[in-house]
Amino acid sequence: VPPETPAEAQVLSEHEGILVIVEQRLGQARSVSWQLLGQGRRLADKLGTKLMALVLGYRVEPVAREAIAYGADVAYLWDDPVLERYRTRPYSEAAVHVIRAEKPEIVLVGATYTGRDLAGAVATRLETGLTADCTLLDVEPPPTRLLQASRPAFSEKLMATILCKKRRPQMASARPGVFEALPPDPNRSGRVVRVGSTLREEDVAARVLDFIQDPDRVNLEDATVIVAGGRGVGGPQGFQLLRQLAQVLGGEVGASRPAVEAGWIDRAHQVGQTGQTVRPKLYIACGISGAVQHLVGMEGSQVIVAVNREPDAPIFRVADYRIVGDLHQVVPALIAEARRR
Ligand code: FAD
Repeated sequence: VPPETPAEAQVLSEHEGILVIVEQRLGQARSVSWQLLGQGRRLADKLGTKLMALVLGYRVEPVAREAIAYGADVAYLWDDPVLERYRTRPYSEAAVHVIRAEKPEIVLVGATYTGRDLAGAVATRLETGLTADCTLLDVEPPPTRLLQASRPAFSEKLMATILCKKRRPQMASARPGVFEALPPDPNRSGRVVRVGSTLREEDVAARVLDFIQDPDRVNLEDATVIVAGGRGVGGPQGFQLLRQLAQVLGGEVGASRPAVEAGWIDRAHQVGQTGQTVRPKLYIACGISGAVQHLVGMEGSQVIVAVNREPDAPIFRVADYRIVGDLHQVVPALIAEARRR
């Protein structure tokens, strides 16, 4: 890359700080936003700079206060009826407006459906680069202060680290579950700054009439309990058993790739390198051997219980509780015990 021209160097030096765009729906923040604030805090401390949050929505001041508790120094709050439901145009307009005014050097967004849509629109309007779907984020120390945004590439066969050398802000969207949120501290000091005013409903072509929840939708990202099954489950009927356990524990059902590829369960349930990264409080792995591609997706879980009939299965190395036995006997016993309590 050729050295910067004086004009480019000027643009680079004008930008400072890290901004996380917080995602919320009807006042309920997505956990990926707090995870990104946690990672943003680590990066900001490394650079010796401030961490900002941007909260867009309607009647969402409590979310801005939460952003401070989760590590932001400043939370910009754009509270506007036009932003009540997510729509690309007003959300990207508001985000671009704040980014142009505050000039952060790095902007981070969760790689959810909404975040992917928003990040692309914002990067396009700012004419800057976007590294999408990252699983690692780091920074080079000053003077370069470059964001090192890494993501799997070439069918997950290698990790690509992408640098955005000449444009600001440097933008990345990051996968839910890969970074750890800081424990929220309601006594943290920080400022909530109200911004905005330029949005007009009549400028927005799209109207949201209603969101219809898919009854089969799986939300592994925010689940506190996941009961996951692998090849050892033996077939779709084995997953019925896991569903019962998940139901009594108030959790969701996860799966390894072979179970998905065998057609026993939908791909939305897959955990691992090519599936989702999860961080529940409790992960119960049933009939899963513990291949590294599965482990990368779930080893951040707080408590791991493994059920496997092989005493030396690799999953037991990461498990807090090891149950050696046939899952078709162990899982019904767990269901009965959970119901009894
Ligand atoms: P197996 O390895 O076959 O293990 C089955 C386990 O069940 C065994 O340990 C066995 O002892 C136990 N068992 C059998 N019967 C019973 C029973 N009745 N009771 C108790 N235990 C029993 N895998 C993922 O999961 N997620 C990914 O995202 C992913 N991405 C990949 C990406 C790439 C590029 C590649 C190359 C591979 C990927 N894989 C992924 C596949 C991964 O390498 C493993 O093949 C896979 O995780 C193994 O799944 P499993 O544990 O269900 O099956």
